[in-house]
Amino acid sequence: MDVIRSVLEMQQVSHAGRRAGHRIGFVPTMGYLHEGHLSLVRIAKARADRVVLSIFVNPIQFLPGEDLASYPRDFTGDEALCRSAGVDTLFYPEPSGMYAPDHSVFVEETALSGGLCGAFRPGHFRGVTTVVAKLFNIVMPDVAVFGQKDAQQVRVIRRMVRDLNMPLEVLIGPTVREPDGLAMSSRNRYLSAAERNDALCLHRALAEAVRLAVAGERSVERIRAAMAAVIAQTPSARVEYIELADDETLQPVRYLERPVLAALAVRIGTTRLIDNTVLQPAKSS
Ligand code: AMP
Repeated sequence: MDVIRSVLEMQQVSHAGRRAGHRIGFVPTMGYLHEGHLSLVRIAKARADRVVLSIFVNPIQFLPGEDLASYPRDFTGDEALCRSAGVDTLFYPEPSGMYAPDHSVFVEETALSGGLCGAFRPGHFRGVTTVVAKLFNIVMPDVAVFGQKDAQQVRVIRRMVRDLNMPLEVLIGPTVREPDGLAMSSRNRYLSAAERNDALCLHRALAEAVRLAVAGERSVERIRAAMAAVIAQTPSARVEYIELADDETLQPVRYLERPVLAALAVRIGTTRLIDNTVLQPAKSS
């Protein structure tokens, strides 16, 4: 496995790979890798000849006061995981190599980014689309793989790829969970043992939403209220949002008539956790 730190070198390696006829698969990450990331590598390997994984804690997607400085980092551990997962190239750029001191161009998606996490993290998705567009220009992948865990993010990126005619395919890997249902996340390491237990309320709320949808409940407000009631059983949990939105447009919906994204952001102590599931309308009998 090659470890590349220079943007120019990464571009040269990708150019050479493409000239040799290789399909390039790409998994962008912020590091502190876990099984969720590795599941995306496996998807990329099945669809490409060479897999590039990037580790870059992108400063411009963090708002002032967020956890940029404390975001967990473990390059040595990540490198070992990438090697054993069969990553061909680990791209690990320096922030100074990614952003010129006077950089002044951003990529912004303006329809899907406003609600859900975007409403609470203004500017976050602009930072994400900008860095992902840059990474696509550097790695030049044929296929890029993102996780359903960050449902809004991958929908925003798909829109960017469509609207800017970027010549690649975007695939979505399912959310990988701990055995007890907690969605894997680098930020789970912030949780104390008690908080780790409290964090299960997100998955419980989603399980309740699925249960109701399967039972034929079509009122989005009733499903939302039931999810809120589940979270309320955990006193340390502070809801940022519980939303049910059309899975394609991310606009609010009243009835479960098409696939609906049930998504929530909850603070457990100081840690902000997100999770989601897609609800399907029950077949009418
Ligand atoms: P991050 O390092 O958190 O920025 O995530 C990098 C990629 O891994 C994104 O596409 C995430 O959606 C994806 N990812 C993070 N957690 C999981 C998970 N538990 N299951 C599947 N994919 C995940």
